[in-house]
Amino acid sequence: MNQRNSGIGSFLSLVAALTCIATSAQAGGVDLTINRIEVTQGIQSETGNTVQLVEGRETTVRVYIDSSPNTWVGEVDASLEVDGASVRTIGSLNGPIDMNTGTTAAEWDHTINFCFIPNAPIVDLTVTLDPDNRVAETDEGNNTSVLSMGFTCETNWTVGYLAVDYAGLGLPDSSLIEPGRGDAFINASFPVSNLNYYKLGEISLSSSVDLEDNVTRSGFLISLWVYRLLYGDIPQLYAWIPGCLSYNGRSVDLLDVSFGNTEFDTSGTCSGPCNRYQRTIAHELEHNLGMSHSTGTLDWHGVDIYGIFDSEFGVKRIRPYSLAELMWGGKCTGTAWVDTWEWTNMLAHEQINCSGLPDERGRLGQAILVSGYLNDSTGNMEMDIVFEGVPLPDVGTSPTGRYLLREMAGSIVTFEARFDIDECESDIEGDDTGCARAFGLTVLV
Ligand SMILES: [Zn+2]
Repeated sequence: MNQRNSGIGSFLSLVAALTCIATSAQAGGVDLTINRIEVTQGIQSETGNTVQLVEGRETTVRVYIDSSPNTWVGEVDASLEVDGASVRTIGSLNGPIDMNTGTTAAEWDHTINFCFIPNAPIVDLTVTLDPDNRVAETDEGNNTSVLSMGFTCETNWTVGYLAVDYAGLGLPDSSLIEPGRGDAFINASFPVSNLNYYKLGEISLSSSVDLEDNVTRSGFLISLWVYRLLYGDIPQLYAWIPGCLSYNGRSVDLLDVSFGNTEFDTSGTCSGPCNRYQRTIAHELEHNLGMSHSTGTLDWHGVDIYGIFDSEFGVKRIRPYSLAELMWGGKCTGTAWVDTWEWTNMLAHEQINCSGLPDERGRLGQAILVSGYLNDSTGNMEMDIVFEGVPLPDVGTSPTGRYLLREMAGSIVTFEARFDIDECESDIEGDDTGCARAFGLTVLV
């Protein structure tokens, strides 16, 4: 109950605390007031709710309460009125509680907590202490506080995934990677209102594609890029590899593709017993949103608003300062969380901010991918794949482009697209004569 009074003098403190709790409700010797209201969707500054939040996402409200004189008080509860697009009154998640002045962000059980989903750009949150008058106070007239909170638009993001049957290991365990579990860390810690995480399909990858080798690994990442385009140019594609690798995952920011392992095999090659795979997908996706490695710990306490990791890892809803931010490589799922700067960067990214739109699904097979080079001076043309681990830019189509891509069925033109290539390179593989123009062209049809 009063865990902070451990150590020297704890016995006397505990007796005093118990006495106060037993008597405060009857004696009317205390006054409860609201110290502050913290609104969070994953991480929030402890000085003024400065981390921007989004509409349509589960939100936690924590109410910090003072007692005067400062003593432990039991049977303390509150109610929350949410005044956005509609008005509703919400009961607390955990009241009535025991509390005293000085509760810190680390103490989930000593703040009164609520959950709601904001449905308007500005929501007034009215907290009323002791709505059932369980505590007799010296002043019953100062139990209400109002916080007006702004929320940016609803944010959508799509991550499609492939299950990879790799090197004869079989497919990854579907229960590890399916929606609800594979995306648990992303859901809990990214500023996304609507995460669209779904299975694209299953692919096989023979052991000849050695994911421990830089060249074949790059080739695999490029093939993932092709898959991403073929699946309708979805924002992100992630591939799950069964079992272990000597690393956790890889990503290519430019291509918006990444992969990671599930670590759940019995080969004995995984380093250490800790589970990383849910954190790994979040880490790789942050790479693709433009973030680089860092070695910082959290600026503030985080809150696992869904309590997802409570039961799975014995990690409490409150995520302490000591946890590593997500861009600290190689951390376990239970020892990492999103930091303020990561949250803010993600929310500013075009894939997630207000311009982020739901994808159009089911477009596999409705695209043409062509790549190669053209050499104006020699007339050489090569239409084979010329990727050497470095992706080529998609040149895009142009109605007045000087190059014409045409698909023929006999003498019938079944498809054509014009495009231009501005860049001219002298070191294109297969053509070191004059100036060749490399291109990659994906056309959705
Ligand atoms: Zn990394």
